[in-house]
Amino acid sequence: MKQFLISFAFLLNVMAAYGQKEPVFTHADTLRGTLSAERKCYDVFFYDLHLTIKPDERSIAGYNVIGFKAVTTFSRMQVDLFKNMEVDSIMHGSSKLRYTRDGNAMFLQFPSQEVAGIKDSIKVFYHGFPRVAVNPPWDGGFVWSKDSTGKTWVGVACEGTGASLWWPCKDHLSDKPDSMRMSFDVPDSLICVSNGRLRSEKKLNNGFTRFTWFVSLPIINYDVTLNIADYAHIKDDYESGQDTLSLDYFVLKYHEKKARAYFERVKPMMACYEKYFGRYPFWKDGYKLVETNYWGMEHQSCVAYGNNYHLNNYGFDFIIVHESAHEWWGNNLSCSDEADMWLHESFATYAEALYLECTQGYKVSLDYLNMQRTGIENNYPIIGPYNVNFQGVDNDNDMYYKGAWVLHTFRHVLNNDSLFFSILKGLQEKFKYSSTNTADVVKYISKMAGKDYAPFFTQYLYHSSPPVFDYKVYTKNGVTMLTYRWQADVKGFTMPIKVTSSVRDGVNAYTSIYPTLEWQTITLGNVSPAQFSTDKDDFYTFLKDESESSKENK
Ligand SMILES: [Zn+2]
Repeated sequence: MKQFLISFAFLLNVMAAYGQKEPVFTHADTLRGTLSAERKCYDVFFYDLHLTIKPDERSIAGYNVIGFKAVTTFSRMQVDLFKNMEVDSIMHGSSKLRYTRDGNAMFLQFPSQEVAGIKDSIKVFYHGFPRVAVNPPWDGGFVWSKDSTGKTWVGVACEGTGASLWWPCKDHLSDKPDSMRMSFDVPDSLICVSNGRLRSEKKLNNGFTRFTWFVSLPIINYDVTLNIADYAHIKDDYESGQDTLSLDYFVLKYHEKKARAYFERVKPMMACYEKYFGRYPFWKDGYKLVETNYWGMEHQSCVAYGNNYHLNNYGFDFIIVHESAHEWWGNNLSCSDEADMWLHESFATYAEALYLECTQGYKVSLDYLNMQRTGIENNYPIIGPYNVNFQGVDNDNDMYYKGAWVLHTFRHVLNNDSLFFSILKGLQEKFKYSSTNTADVVKYISKMAGKDYAPFFTQYLYHSSPPVFDYKVYTKNGVTMLTYRWQADVKGFTMPIKVTSSVRDGVNAYTSIYPTLEWQTITLGNVSPAQFSTDKDDFYTFLKDESESSKENK
Protein backbone atom coordinates (compact mmCIF):
# COMPACT_ATOMS: atom_id res chain seq x y z
CA MET A 1 0.00 0.00 0.00
CA LYS A 2 2.80 2.35 0.85
CA GLN A 3 4.37 1.75 -2.49
CA PHE A 4 1.12 2.54 -4.21
CA LEU A 5 0.90 5.85 -2.37
CA ILE A 6 4.48 6.70 -3.26
CA SER A 7 3.83 5.86 -6.89
CA PHE A 8 0.71 7.97 -6.93
CA ALA A 9 2.58 10.95 -5.48
CA PHE A 10 5.23 10.55 -8.16
CA LEU A 11 2.60 10.43 -10.81
CA LEU A 12 1.14 13.73 -9.63
CA ASN A 13 4.59 15.33 -9.56
CA VAL A 14 5.37 14.01 -12.98
CA MET A 15 2.11 15.25 -14.39
CA ALA A 16 2.71 18.67 -12.86
CA ALA A 17 6.24 18.89 -14.19
CA TYR A 18 5.70 17.31 -17.55
CA GLY A 19 2.13 17.91 -18.61
CA GLN A 20 -0.03 15.22 -20.16
CA LYS A 21 2.16 13.47 -22.68
CA GLU A 22 4.90 12.22 -20.40
CA PRO A 23 5.68 8.75 -19.13
CA VAL A 24 3.63 7.15 -16.44
CA PHE A 25 5.72 5.12 -14.06
CA THR A 26 4.96 1.56 -13.15
CA HIS A 27 5.32 -0.71 -10.15
CA ALA A 28 8.41 -2.12 -11.89
CA ASP A 29 9.98 1.37 -12.11
CA THR A 30 9.43 1.83 -8.39
CA LEU A 31 10.90 -1.59 -7.58
CA ARG A 32 13.95 -0.75 -9.64
CA GLY A 33 14.36 2.91 -8.70
CA THR A 34 13.38 3.14 -5.06
CA LEU A 35 15.63 2.49 -2.13
CA SER A 36 13.08 0.24 -0.44
CA ALA A 37 13.41 -0.99 3.14
CA GLU A 38 14.49 -4.36 1.71
CA ARG A 39 17.39 -2.59 0.02
CA LYS A 40 18.27 0.00 2.66
CA CYS A 41 18.76 -2.79 5.18
CA TYR A 42 22.03 -3.93 3.62
CA ASP A 43 25.18 -2.46 2.15
CA VAL A 44 27.09 -4.48 -0.45
CA PHE A 45 30.86 -4.61 0.05
CA PHE A 46 31.82 -7.33 -2.43
CA TYR A 47 30.52 -9.10 -5.52
CA ASP A 48 32.14 -12.28 -6.81
CA LEU A 49 30.72 -13.00 -10.26
CA HIS A 50 31.51 -16.29 -12.03
CA LEU A 51 30.01 -16.99 -15.45
CA THR A 52 30.45 -19.27 -18.42
CA ILE A 53 29.63 -17.42 -21.62
CA LYS A 54 28.58 -19.46 -24.66
CA PRO A 55 28.43 -17.07 -27.61
CA ASP A 56 27.08 -19.73 -29.97
CA GLU A 57 24.07 -20.21 -27.71
CA ARG A 58 23.97 -16.58 -26.58
CA SER A 59 23.75 -17.94 -23.05
CA ILE A 60 25.37 -17.28 -19.69
CA ALA A 61 25.42 -19.51 -16.59
CA GLY A 62 27.09 -19.37 -13.20
CA TYR A 63 26.73 -17.59 -9.89
CA ASN A 64 27.30 -14.37 -8.04
CA VAL A 65 28.27 -14.05 -4.39
CA ILE A 66 26.88 -10.94 -2.73
CA GLY A 67 28.88 -9.94 0.34
CA PHE A 68 26.96 -7.48 2.47
CA LYS A 69 26.83 -5.78 5.82
CA ALA A 70 23.47 -5.58 7.59
CA VAL A 71 22.71 -1.89 8.08
CA THR A 72 19.57 -2.64 10.10
CA THR A 73 18.28 -5.93 11.48
CA PHE A 74 16.22 -7.67 8.83
CA SER A 75 15.03 -11.02 7.51
CA ARG A 76 13.79 -10.03 4.04
CA MET A 77 16.01 -8.58 1.34
CA GLN A 78 15.58 -7.39 -2.25
CA VAL A 79 18.03 -8.58 -4.90
CA ASP A 80 17.49 -7.72 -8.54
CA LEU A 81 17.72 -10.05 -11.53
CA PHE A 82 15.73 -9.77 -14.74
CA LYS A 83 12.80 -12.13 -14.82
CA ASN A 84 13.96 -13.84 -18.02
CA MET A 85 17.02 -15.18 -16.17
CA GLU A 86 16.40 -18.47 -14.38
CA VAL A 87 17.45 -18.84 -10.79
CA ASP A 88 18.75 -22.31 -9.88
CA SER A 89 19.18 -21.68 -6.18
CA ILE A 90 20.06 -19.01 -3.65
CA MET A 91 22.43 -20.30 -0.99
CA HIS A 92 23.06 -18.88 2.46
CA GLY A 93 25.96 -20.91 3.80
CA SER A 94 24.96 -24.51 3.14
CA SER A 95 21.22 -23.92 3.17
CA LYS A 96 18.88 -22.77 0.46
CA LEU A 97 17.03 -19.51 0.93
CA ARG A 98 13.37 -19.17 0.08
CA TYR A 99 12.54 -16.37 -2.33
CA THR A 100 9.75 -14.91 -4.39
CA ARG A 101 10.05 -13.00 -7.64
CA ASP A 102 8.20 -9.82 -8.53
CA GLY A 103 9.10 -8.90 -12.09
CA ASN A 104 12.80 -8.10 -12.15
CA ALA A 105 13.12 -8.08 -8.36
CA MET A 106 13.57 -11.03 -6.00
CA PHE A 107 12.65 -11.00 -2.32
CA LEU A 108 14.75 -13.35 -0.21
CA GLN A 109 13.52 -14.66 3.12
CA PHE A 110 16.14 -15.48 5.76
CA PRO A 111 15.17 -18.17 8.30
CA SER A 112 16.40 -15.96 11.14
CA GLN A 113 17.22 -12.32 11.48
CA GLU A 114 20.32 -10.76 9.98
CA VAL A 115 21.43 -8.58 12.86
CA ALA A 116 22.54 -4.98 12.23
CA GLY A 117 26.30 -4.74 11.91
CA ILE A 118 27.06 -8.32 10.87
CA LYS A 119 28.79 -9.24 7.63
CA ASP A 120 27.29 -12.06 5.65
CA SER A 121 26.94 -13.34 2.10
CA ILE A 122 24.58 -15.14 -0.23
CA LYS A 123 25.29 -16.99 -3.45
CA VAL A 124 22.85 -16.83 -6.37
CA PHE A 125 23.14 -19.61 -8.99
CA TYR A 126 21.42 -18.76 -12.25
CA HIS A 127 21.49 -19.16 -16.01
CA GLY A 128 19.72 -18.02 -19.13
CA PHE A 129 19.69 -15.95 -22.27
CA PRO A 130 20.30 -12.36 -21.25
CA ARG A 131 18.50 -9.53 -22.96
CA VAL A 132 19.95 -8.62 -26.34
CA ALA A 133 20.54 -4.90 -26.82
CA VAL A 134 18.39 -3.46 -29.58
CA ASN A 135 20.19 -0.14 -29.85
CA PRO A 136 23.36 -0.22 -27.73
CA PRO A 137 24.63 1.63 -25.79
CA TRP A 138 21.38 3.58 -25.31
CA ASP A 139 19.40 0.44 -24.76
CA GLY A 140 21.02 -2.14 -22.53
CA GLY A 141 21.94 -5.73 -23.18
CA PHE A 142 24.37 -8.12 -24.78
CA VAL A 143 25.77 -7.43 -28.22
CA TRP A 144 26.62 -10.71 -29.94
CA SER A 145 28.44 -10.24 -33.22
CA LYS A 146 31.38 -11.26 -35.41
CA ASP A 147 34.38 -9.19 -36.39
CA SER A 148 35.11 -8.74 -40.10
CA THR A 149 37.15 -11.97 -40.17
CA GLY A 150 34.16 -13.91 -38.83
CA LYS A 151 35.48 -14.31 -35.27
CA THR A 152 33.20 -14.00 -32.26
CA TRP A 153 32.87 -10.50 -30.78
CA VAL A 154 30.76 -9.99 -27.67
CA GLY A 155 30.05 -6.94 -25.55
CA VAL A 156 27.57 -5.88 -22.92
CA ALA A 157 26.38 -2.40 -21.96
CA CYS A 158 23.57 -1.90 -19.48
CA GLU A 159 23.45 1.70 -18.26
CA GLY A 160 19.88 2.70 -17.48
CA THR A 161 18.43 -0.73 -18.18
CA GLY A 162 20.52 -2.10 -15.33
CA ALA A 163 23.25 -4.58 -14.50
CA SER A 164 20.56 -6.94 -13.22
CA LEU A 165 19.76 -7.75 -16.84
CA TRP A 166 22.76 -10.08 -16.66
CA TRP A 167 23.87 -10.53 -13.05
CA PRO A 168 22.06 -10.54 -9.70
CA CYS A 169 22.82 -7.49 -7.58
CA LYS A 170 21.35 -4.67 -5.59
CA ASP A 171 20.63 -2.73 -8.75
CA HIS A 172 20.49 0.75 -7.32
CA LEU A 173 23.01 3.50 -8.04
CA SER A 174 23.45 4.31 -4.36
CA ASP A 175 25.35 1.13 -3.48
CA LYS A 176 28.81 0.42 -4.88
CA PRO A 177 30.74 -2.64 -3.69
CA ASP A 178 34.20 -1.79 -2.32
CA SER A 179 35.71 -4.26 -4.77
CA MET A 180 34.62 -7.00 -7.16
CA ARG A 181 35.95 -10.14 -8.80
CA MET A 182 34.75 -11.10 -12.28
CA SER A 183 35.61 -14.55 -13.53
CA PHE A 184 34.49 -15.42 -17.05
CA ASP A 185 34.90 -18.70 -18.93
CA VAL A 186 34.98 -18.03 -22.66
CA PRO A 187 35.76 -20.25 -25.67
CA ASP A 188 39.47 -20.97 -26.17
CA SER A 189 41.25 -18.71 -28.69
CA LEU A 190 39.22 -15.70 -27.57
CA ILE A 191 40.25 -13.12 -24.97
CA CYS A 192 37.96 -11.77 -22.29
CA VAL A 193 38.57 -8.27 -20.94
CA SER A 194 36.79 -6.88 -17.90
CA ASN A 195 37.28 -4.09 -15.37
CA GLY A 196 40.38 -3.64 -13.23
CA ARG A 197 43.37 -5.93 -13.46
CA LEU A 198 43.72 -9.43 -14.86
CA ARG A 199 44.41 -11.79 -11.96
CA SER A 200 44.71 -15.01 -13.91
CA GLU A 201 44.13 -16.71 -17.23
CA LYS A 202 43.63 -20.47 -17.07
CA LYS A 203 42.85 -23.06 -19.73
CA LEU A 204 40.13 -25.36 -18.40
CA ASN A 205 40.65 -28.26 -20.84
CA ASN A 206 36.97 -28.21 -21.79
CA GLY A 207 37.22 -25.81 -24.69
CA PHE A 208 37.05 -22.79 -22.39
CA THR A 209 39.57 -20.42 -20.85
CA ARG A 210 38.89 -18.69 -17.55
CA PHE A 211 39.79 -15.00 -17.27
CA THR A 212 39.65 -13.64 -13.73
CA TRP A 213 39.63 -9.86 -13.33
CA PHE A 214 39.59 -7.83 -10.14
CA VAL A 215 38.48 -4.26 -9.43
CA SER A 216 40.07 -3.08 -6.23
CA LEU A 217 38.02 0.12 -5.94
CA PRO A 218 34.30 0.87 -5.60
CA ILE A 219 32.43 0.44 -8.87
CA ILE A 220 28.92 1.36 -9.97
CA ASN A 221 26.96 -1.70 -11.18
CA TYR A 222 26.42 -0.61 -14.78
CA ASP A 223 30.17 -0.11 -15.22
CA VAL A 224 30.80 -3.82 -14.77
CA THR A 225 31.32 -5.35 -18.19
CA LEU A 226 32.88 -8.04 -20.30
CA ASN A 227 34.37 -7.91 -23.78
CA ILE A 228 35.13 -11.08 -25.71
CA ALA A 229 37.02 -11.07 -29.02
CA ASP A 230 40.21 -12.05 -30.78
CA TYR A 231 41.97 -9.04 -29.30
CA ALA A 232 45.53 -7.76 -29.65
CA HIS A 233 46.90 -6.26 -26.44
CA ILE A 234 48.83 -2.98 -26.68
CA LYS A 235 50.66 -1.81 -23.56
CA ASP A 236 51.64 1.75 -22.84
CA ASP A 237 52.35 4.01 -19.86
CA TYR A 238 51.30 7.47 -18.81
CA GLU A 239 53.69 9.31 -16.54
CA SER A 240 52.40 11.87 -14.10
CA GLY A 241 54.61 13.37 -11.45
CA GLN A 242 56.65 10.55 -9.98
CA ASP A 243 54.10 7.91 -10.84
CA THR A 244 53.27 5.73 -13.83
CA LEU A 245 49.77 4.68 -14.85
CA SER A 246 49.43 1.58 -16.99
CA LEU A 247 47.49 2.08 -20.22
CA ASP A 248 46.20 -1.11 -21.84
CA TYR A 249 44.43 -1.21 -25.15
CA PHE A 250 42.57 -4.25 -26.43
CA VAL A 251 41.74 -3.92 -30.11
CA LEU A 252 40.72 -6.26 -32.89
CA LYS A 253 43.91 -7.83 -34.19
CA TYR A 254 43.58 -6.30 -37.63
CA HIS A 255 43.39 -2.81 -36.07
CA GLU A 256 46.52 -3.16 -33.98
CA LYS A 257 48.83 -1.01 -36.07
CA LYS A 258 46.29 1.77 -36.51
CA ALA A 259 45.31 1.70 -32.82
CA ARG A 260 48.90 1.84 -31.62
CA ALA A 261 49.40 5.24 -33.26
CA TYR A 262 45.85 6.50 -32.74
CA PHE A 263 45.69 5.88 -28.99
CA GLU A 264 48.78 8.04 -28.43
CA ARG A 265 46.21 10.82 -27.96
CA VAL A 266 45.18 9.32 -24.62
CA LYS A 267 48.24 10.71 -22.82
CA PRO A 268 47.71 14.43 -23.54
CA MET A 269 44.04 13.97 -22.67
CA MET A 270 44.97 12.43 -19.31
CA ALA A 271 47.28 15.38 -18.65
CA CYS A 272 44.43 17.84 -19.36
CA TYR A 273 41.97 16.02 -17.15
CA GLU A 274 44.45 15.69 -14.32
CA LYS A 275 45.10 19.43 -14.58
CA TYR A 276 41.40 20.28 -14.28
CA PHE A 277 39.95 17.46 -12.18
CA GLY A 278 42.87 16.02 -10.23
CA ARG A 279 44.62 12.69 -10.34
CA TYR A 280 43.15 9.83 -12.41
CA PRO A 281 40.88 8.18 -9.83
CA PHE A 282 41.55 4.50 -10.61
CA TRP A 283 45.32 4.43 -10.67
CA LYS A 284 45.49 1.06 -8.90
CA ASP A 285 43.21 -0.54 -11.47
CA GLY A 286 44.81 1.08 -14.52
CA TYR A 287 43.18 2.60 -17.60
CA LYS A 288 42.00 0.58 -20.57
CA LEU A 289 40.33 1.16 -23.89
CA VAL A 290 38.62 -1.90 -25.31
CA GLU A 291 37.32 -2.02 -28.87
CA THR A 292 33.61 -2.75 -28.76
CA ASN A 293 30.81 -3.61 -31.16
CA TYR A 294 28.80 -0.62 -29.94
CA TRP A 295 29.66 3.09 -29.86
CA GLY A 296 31.02 3.57 -26.34
CA MET A 297 30.46 3.42 -22.60
CA GLU A 298 32.28 4.64 -19.53
CA HIS A 299 33.00 1.20 -18.07
CA GLN A 300 35.31 1.92 -15.17
CA SER A 301 39.00 1.30 -15.94
CA CYS A 302 37.77 -0.52 -19.07
CA VAL A 303 36.33 2.17 -21.33
CA ALA A 304 34.34 0.81 -24.27
CA TYR A 305 35.62 2.20 -27.56
CA GLY A 306 33.55 1.67 -30.69
CA ASN A 307 34.09 4.90 -32.58
CA ASN A 308 35.97 3.40 -35.51
CA TYR A 309 39.05 5.61 -35.06
CA HIS A 310 37.08 8.65 -36.09
CA LEU A 311 38.05 12.27 -35.35
CA ASN A 312 35.33 14.90 -35.26
CA ASN A 313 35.50 18.37 -36.85
CA TYR A 314 37.45 19.62 -33.85
CA GLY A 315 40.14 17.00 -34.33
CA PHE A 316 39.37 14.81 -31.33
CA ASP A 317 37.84 11.40 -30.81
CA PHE A 318 34.53 12.01 -29.10
CA ILE A 319 34.31 8.58 -27.45
CA ILE A 320 37.80 8.65 -25.96
CA VAL A 321 37.36 12.20 -24.65
CA HIS A 322 33.77 11.90 -23.40
CA GLU A 323 33.83 8.40 -21.93
CA SER A 324 37.21 8.90 -20.25
CA ALA A 325 35.90 12.07 -18.58
CA HIS A 326 33.36 9.80 -16.91
CA GLU A 327 36.19 8.18 -14.93
CA TRP A 328 36.01 11.37 -12.85
CA TRP A 329 32.37 12.34 -13.43
CA GLY A 330 30.22 9.24 -13.08
CA ASN A 331 32.65 6.57 -11.94
CA ASN A 332 34.51 8.34 -9.14
CA LEU A 333 31.81 10.86 -8.20
CA SER A 334 28.56 9.02 -8.97
CA CYS A 335 24.94 9.95 -8.55
CA SER A 336 22.72 7.86 -6.28
CA ASP A 337 19.56 8.23 -8.39
CA GLU A 338 19.10 8.35 -12.16
CA ALA A 339 17.39 11.73 -11.74
CA ASP A 340 20.78 13.22 -10.82
CA MET A 341 22.48 11.85 -13.93
CA TRP A 342 23.53 15.39 -14.85
CA LEU A 343 26.35 14.85 -12.32
CA HIS A 344 27.75 12.38 -14.85
CA GLU A 345 26.70 13.81 -18.17
CA SER A 346 26.82 17.59 -17.78
CA PHE A 347 30.32 17.43 -16.31
CA ALA A 348 31.54 14.91 -18.92
CA THR A 349 30.12 17.09 -21.69
CA TYR A 350 31.75 20.21 -20.27
CA ALA A 351 34.96 18.17 -20.07
CA GLU A 352 34.89 17.97 -23.88
CA ALA A 353 35.03 21.78 -24.04
CA LEU A 354 37.71 21.87 -21.34
CA TYR A 355 39.75 19.35 -23.30
CA LEU A 356 39.60 21.74 -26.28
CA GLU A 357 40.47 24.68 -24.05
CA CYS A 358 43.48 22.73 -22.81
CA THR A 359 44.71 21.63 -26.22
CA GLN A 360 43.52 24.37 -28.61
CA GLY A 361 42.65 27.36 -26.46
CA TYR A 362 39.58 29.06 -25.04
CA LYS A 363 38.30 30.44 -28.36
CA VAL A 364 38.03 27.00 -29.91
CA SER A 365 36.30 25.64 -26.82
CA LEU A 366 33.77 28.51 -27.05
CA ASP A 367 33.12 27.66 -30.66
CA TYR A 368 32.45 24.06 -29.62
CA LEU A 369 30.15 25.12 -26.79
CA ASN A 370 28.23 27.42 -29.11
CA MET A 371 27.78 24.52 -31.53
CA GLN A 372 26.34 22.43 -28.68
CA ARG A 373 24.14 25.35 -27.60
CA THR A 374 22.08 24.99 -30.76
CA GLY A 375 20.98 21.58 -29.47
CA ILE A 376 19.47 22.91 -26.23
CA GLU A 377 15.72 22.46 -26.11
CA ASN A 378 14.45 23.62 -22.70
CA ASN A 379 11.42 21.34 -22.98
CA TYR A 380 11.94 19.56 -19.65
CA PRO A 381 13.91 20.19 -16.48
CA ILE A 382 17.35 18.54 -16.52
CA ILE A 383 16.43 16.77 -13.29
CA GLY A 384 13.28 14.67 -13.51
CA PRO A 385 11.45 12.61 -10.89
CA TYR A 386 13.44 10.63 -8.34
CA ASN A 387 13.06 6.98 -7.25
CA VAL A 388 11.73 5.60 -10.54
CA ASN A 389 15.03 4.95 -12.37
CA PHE A 390 14.16 7.72 -14.82
CA GLN A 391 17.04 9.31 -16.67
CA GLY A 392 14.98 11.63 -18.80
CA VAL A 393 12.77 11.77 -21.84
CA ASP A 394 14.15 9.89 -24.85
CA ASN A 395 16.19 12.03 -27.22
CA ASP A 396 16.27 14.99 -24.85
CA ASN A 397 19.87 16.20 -24.76
CA ASP A 398 19.59 18.95 -22.19
CA MET A 399 21.44 16.93 -19.53
CA TYR A 400 24.40 17.08 -21.96
CA TYR A 401 24.42 20.38 -23.86
CA LYS A 402 22.42 22.56 -21.52
CA GLY A 403 24.16 20.94 -18.56
CA ALA A 404 27.54 21.89 -20.02
CA TRP A 405 26.25 25.45 -20.43
CA VAL A 406 25.02 25.50 -16.82
CA LEU A 407 28.56 24.70 -15.68
CA HIS A 408 30.09 27.16 -18.14
CA THR A 409 27.69 29.86 -16.94
CA PHE A 410 28.44 29.02 -13.33
CA ARG A 411 32.16 29.40 -14.06
CA HIS A 412 31.48 32.95 -15.28
CA VAL A 413 29.12 33.72 -12.44
CA LEU A 414 32.02 32.88 -10.12
CA ASN A 415 34.32 34.89 -12.40
CA ASN A 416 37.30 33.25 -10.73
CA ASP A 417 38.85 30.35 -12.64
CA SER A 418 41.17 29.26 -9.87
CA LEU A 419 38.16 28.94 -7.56
CA PHE A 420 36.10 27.20 -10.25
CA PHE A 421 38.76 24.57 -10.88
CA SER A 422 39.50 24.12 -7.21
CA ILE A 423 35.79 23.37 -6.77
CA LEU A 424 35.95 20.73 -9.54
CA LYS A 425 38.98 19.12 -7.90
CA GLY A 426 37.38 19.49 -4.49
CA LEU A 427 34.24 17.68 -5.63
CA GLN A 428 36.41 14.80 -6.83
CA GLU A 429 38.06 14.55 -3.42
CA LYS A 430 35.00 15.16 -1.29
CA PHE A 431 32.88 12.55 -3.11
CA LYS A 432 35.69 10.16 -3.99
CA TYR A 433 34.45 6.64 -4.86
CA SER A 434 31.00 7.47 -3.57
CA SER A 435 27.46 8.09 -4.74
CA THR A 436 25.91 11.45 -4.02
CA ASN A 437 23.10 13.76 -5.07
CA THR A 438 22.47 17.24 -6.41
CA ALA A 439 21.65 18.75 -3.02
CA ASP A 440 24.96 17.62 -1.47
CA VAL A 441 26.97 18.70 -4.50
CA VAL A 442 25.35 22.15 -4.51
CA LYS A 443 25.90 22.43 -0.77
CA TYR A 444 29.58 21.67 -1.25
CA ILE A 445 29.91 24.15 -4.13
CA SER A 446 28.22 26.87 -2.06
CA LYS A 447 30.50 26.20 0.89
CA MET A 448 33.61 26.37 -1.30
CA ALA A 449 32.38 29.51 -3.06
CA GLY A 450 31.29 31.19 0.16
CA LYS A 451 27.80 31.89 -1.16
CA ASP A 452 24.52 29.98 -1.46
CA TYR A 453 24.21 28.91 -5.08
CA ALA A 454 21.13 26.76 -4.51
CA PRO A 455 18.82 29.27 -6.29
CA PHE A 456 21.12 29.26 -9.33
CA PHE A 457 21.25 25.48 -9.64
CA THR A 458 17.58 25.06 -8.77
CA GLN A 459 16.56 27.37 -11.61
CA TYR A 460 18.81 25.73 -14.18
CA LEU A 461 18.28 22.11 -13.14
CA TYR A 462 14.74 21.80 -11.78
CA HIS A 463 12.99 24.16 -14.21
CA SER A 464 12.79 23.81 -17.95
CA SER A 465 13.51 27.48 -18.69
CA PRO A 466 16.78 29.24 -17.89
CA PRO A 467 16.46 32.62 -16.15
CA VAL A 468 15.23 35.42 -18.40
CA PHE A 469 17.21 38.65 -18.52
CA ASP A 470 14.42 41.19 -18.88
CA TYR A 471 15.65 44.64 -19.91
CA LYS A 472 15.08 47.98 -21.57
CA VAL A 473 17.89 50.05 -23.00
CA TYR A 474 17.15 53.63 -23.98
CA THR A 475 18.49 57.19 -24.13
CA LYS A 476 17.53 59.82 -21.60
CA ASN A 477 18.93 63.35 -21.83
CA GLY A 478 21.64 62.04 -24.18
CA VAL A 479 22.70 59.26 -21.76
CA THR A 480 22.21 55.53 -22.40
CA MET A 481 20.22 53.92 -19.62
CA LEU A 482 19.66 50.24 -18.78
CA THR A 483 16.72 49.02 -16.74
CA TYR A 484 16.83 45.31 -15.94
CA ARG A 485 15.77 42.41 -13.77
CA TRP A 486 15.69 38.62 -13.77
CA GLN A 487 12.53 36.69 -14.42
CA ALA A 488 12.87 33.25 -12.86
CA ASP A 489 10.84 30.51 -11.23
CA VAL A 490 12.98 30.42 -8.10
CA LYS A 491 12.24 32.82 -5.28
CA GLY A 492 15.24 34.96 -4.46
CA PHE A 493 16.98 34.11 -7.72
CA THR A 494 19.96 36.31 -8.44
CA MET A 495 23.11 36.02 -10.50
CA PRO A 496 25.52 38.43 -12.13
CA ILE A 497 25.71 38.78 -15.88
CA LYS A 498 28.10 40.69 -18.10
CA VAL A 499 26.81 43.49 -20.33
CA THR A 500 28.47 45.83 -22.81
CA SER A 501 30.36 48.67 -21.14
CA SER A 502 32.13 49.98 -24.23
CA VAL A 503 32.73 49.10 -27.85
CA ARG A 504 36.06 49.63 -29.48
CA ASP A 505 36.72 48.69 -33.11
CA GLY A 506 33.53 46.68 -33.09
CA VAL A 507 34.64 44.60 -30.10
CA ASN A 508 32.53 44.63 -26.93
CA ALA A 509 34.09 45.12 -23.53
CA TYR A 510 31.88 43.79 -20.75
CA THR A 511 31.19 44.73 -17.20
CA SER A 512 29.37 42.71 -14.54
CA ILE A 513 25.98 43.80 -13.24
CA TYR A 514 23.99 42.14 -10.47
CA PRO A 515 20.34 41.87 -11.39
CA THR A 516 17.77 40.51 -8.95
CA LEU A 517 14.06 39.85 -9.45
CA GLU A 518 13.42 43.57 -8.86
CA TRP A 519 13.90 46.28 -11.50
CA GLN A 520 17.12 48.29 -11.31
CA THR A 521 18.43 51.08 -13.50
CA ILE A 522 22.00 52.12 -14.32
CA THR A 523 23.66 54.39 -16.83
CA LEU A 524 25.77 52.73 -19.47
CA GLY A 525 28.97 54.54 -20.43
CA ASN A 526 29.77 55.11 -24.05
CA VAL A 527 27.40 52.49 -25.40
CA SER A 528 24.51 53.31 -27.69
CA PRO A 529 21.31 51.29 -27.35
CA ALA A 530 22.12 49.67 -30.69
CA GLN A 531 25.51 48.52 -29.41
CA PHE A 532 24.21 46.98 -26.21
CA SER A 533 24.35 43.26 -25.64
CA THR A 534 24.94 40.68 -22.95
CA ASP A 535 27.94 38.35 -22.94
CA LYS A 536 26.40 35.38 -24.74
CA ASP A 537 29.66 33.43 -24.92
CA ASP A 538 29.86 33.08 -21.17
CA PHE A 539 26.25 33.07 -19.94
CA TYR A 540 23.34 30.93 -21.00
CA THR A 541 20.08 32.82 -20.36
CA PHE A 542 17.02 33.84 -22.25
CA LEU A 543 16.84 37.53 -23.18
CA LYS A 544 13.68 39.60 -23.16
CA ASP A 545 14.34 42.96 -24.74
CA GLU A 546 11.54 45.32 -23.77
CA SER A 547 13.18 48.37 -25.31
CA GLU A 548 11.21 50.44 -27.78
CA SER A 549 11.45 49.07 -31.30
CA SER A 550 13.03 45.82 -30.11
CA LYS A 551 11.96 42.31 -30.71
CA GLU A 552 12.10 39.37 -28.36
CA ASN A 553 14.81 36.89 -29.01
CA LYS A 554 16.71 34.14 -27.35
ZN1 LIG B 1 28.20 10.25 -21.10
